[in-house]
This record gives sequence, structure tokens and C-alpha cells, in this order.
Amino acid sequence: MRRKIKYIVVHCTGTTPDATIDSILKFWKEVRKWNNPGYHYLIKRNGEIVSLLSEDKIANGVKDFNIECVHVAYIGGVDKAGNRTDNRTPAQIRSLFNKLVALSEKYPGATILGHRDFKGVTKKCPSFDVREWLRNYTPDELAIAA
Ligand SMILES: [Zn+2]
Repeated sequence: MRRKIKYIVVHCTGTTPDATIDSILKFWKEVRKWNNPGYHYLIKRNGEIVSLLSEDKIANGVKDFNIECVHVAYIGGVDKAGNRTDNRTPAQIRSLFNKLVALSEKYPGATILGHRDFKGVTKKCPSFDVREWLRNYTPDELAIAA
């Protein structure tokens, strides 16, 4: 059965850019003891989108809201020194935008938010302001057409 999706949520993995999907999955399973992944989709540095979980299933992205969320994360968000930073590659930015467009079409009533935009969240995830980015972002196709 299809869930009622109220939020499309953007995350970073909160790792350095070189983190592998295997190491991220291992962390969730062994450290967090989660049965399901944290996100439905992971975006690799080369822009490739990897599906970790069916959208019908509930992931672990935002405590207390997961039942109404689809979660998308890019690999990165933290630099080598451990500081929070928006280190998305151009390929990740493009893929993230396209995925958000596709999910919005699939769930027309849903709101796109960053993890940190939820009430009571003190994390910095996804290390940038999602709503501001979406307001200002110009997809490549439009840039070429202009
Ligand atoms: Zn997050």
C-alpha cells in the first residue's frame, strides 16, 4: 500500500565525501541497530542515485516524522576536519534537484524540507538551506536554453 507522503526530506550522510555506501549501511545496522536504512535514496559523488529502500517502507531519517517522509541524502556534508559544510559535487546537485522534482510529481501535496527544518531538530543536516537553494537554483537545461 502506498503511504501518504507529507514531506520529502533532504539529508547529508554527515560523513566525509569519501565514505562508502557499505560503511554507511554498516553503521546503521551495527551502531544504530536499525532494521531499515536511514534514507530511501543515497546520491553518490558522481551523481548516481542508489535506492536503499522502497518508498512504501519507512526509513529512519527524521525521528517522529518518518511515517510521512521520503528521505534523500547526498554522501558528504562534513569536511576532513569534521566541520559541517555543503560539499555537494555539481553532479550531486543536479541529481538531487532532479530527484526532488520527480518525487514532487509523484507526491504532489508533499513539502520539500531539509532535515534541520523540522521542529526540535538541532542537527545541521544537510549542511545547507534547502528552501533557499531551491528558490535560487537554475537547472542546467534552463541555463543552456537561455
Ligand atoms: Zn539528516
